[in-house]
Amino acid sequence: MAIDETPSSFFAPRPDRLRHSAIILLAAGLGLTVLVTLGQLPLLAAAAVFALVAAAALVPWRLHDAEASRDDIRTEDPVEAAAVNAIVAGMPDPAVLLDRAGRVIHLNAAAAQLAPALRKNELAQFALRSPEIIGALREAIATTQPRRATYLDQVPVDRWMELVITPVPVPTRFGGADKCMLMTFHDLTPLRRVEEMRADFVANASHELRTPLAALSGFIDTLQGPAKDDPKARDRFLAIMHAQATRMARLIDDLLSLSRVELSAHVRPDTLVDLVPLIRQVADGLEPLAHERQVVVEINLPEMPIMIAGDREELLRLFENLIENALKYGASGGKVIVSLNSAAMAEGAPEIRVTVRDFGPGIAPEHLPRLTERFYRVDVGDSRSQGGTGLGLSLVKHILNRHRGRLLIESVPNNGATFTACFPQPRSPGSTQS
Ligand code: ADP
Repeated sequence: MAIDETPSSFFAPRPDRLRHSAIILLAAGLGLTVLVTLGQLPLLAAAAVFALVAAAALVPWRLHDAEASRDDIRTEDPVEAAAVNAIVAGMPDPAVLLDRAGRVIHLNAAAAQLAPALRKNELAQFALRSPEIIGALREAIATTQPRRATYLDQVPVDRWMELVITPVPVPTRFGGADKCMLMTFHDLTPLRRVEEMRADFVANASHELRTPLAALSGFIDTLQGPAKDDPKARDRFLAIMHAQATRMARLIDDLLSLSRVELSAHVRPDTLVDLVPLIRQVADGLEPLAHERQVVVEINLPEMPIMIAGDREELLRLFENLIENALKYGASGGKVIVSLNSAAMAEGAPEIRVTVRDFGPGIAPEHLPRLTERFYRVDVGDSRSQGGTGLGLSLVKHILNRHRGRLLIESVPNNGATFTACFPQPRSPGSTQS
């Protein structure tokens, strides 16, 4: 909606019509008195003429006044009026200045977008439909005290909004100041989302920790009670307890890693790291797991060093997660291929890509966009039985973000999954990108 940028008539400068009218009436009164005294005009005619002059002097003034100002608080100073308008127009959030009756004096473009029915010189109450806003506005007008309200704006999308009404003094024509109302709106949706995510995260983390803890205390009770003298059961339970304790430790480890990466998210790593030996080290470390799952790991690495600006520990963690996932969830394919190569992106910026491909069951398309969410798993039972925490891919994404890289996930159900970690290539050896 286009906003009329001319100063509102509320603030329009005007001549001192009151003084002019008084002078005209005084002159007419004097002239008529002289004519009546001299006997040149009957008193009745003089009175009629005076009434006509008075009407001519005052009625247009009253009409103009009624149209231009419904209150008597307007400022006469055009510079001041323009400044007030400019301030409202320049506010980043939706802002509306109302007179003390609730009529719109000025509104900025953001406010016009938020409430398209708002019009200058019209009552805001008629244009705003939310009962919370109208209630707060009524109270603010009645008490001339600040008011706040939060409400759900459902058009065009659900948004939690906060309304703040602040009484502001505006200079009056007769000196002093009168209270206008400045309404500002703030979008609380991002804050609410963060708050919800935080609450979800705490709930998920507690739940994930409580599950192995409950198993541990259950087995302790059994070992102290019914299985006290059963060496076979004791060995079996101790093995399960060990697995549960390992899962708890891993969860705490992943949580700490996530928070560490998040804390340093804005600081891009600047040490040059050669990816070739690093990937080999990770693959060697996972050889026992590959052996256990009967998976052949094929590694295609170039002969020469491939350097990126990175954090060594985080990169180890990243590749460990991707290769371990391929070994755990794609084991049925019997083969995992890890390859490293450079590629030019569409825009021409060169990238270094590490691809981990497995030939397992793959992932259904509806899960792909959510895989990097914390605690998201395709199959919770499967993940838990594999010692998973549901945090691995979230950690991978955060590490890549910190390295200004990105994660690509492709999968064809029943034909495996491919996870590709893409890193920007340093421009020249020894240099880092901004
Ligand atoms: P988890 O600790 O459960 O392994 P991740 O965040 O690493 O957590 O992975 C999230 C989920 O993504 C896993 O639980 C699994 O369902 C799915 N997933 C990850 N990698 C693969 C893969 N290579 N093949 C099939 N599913 C996978």
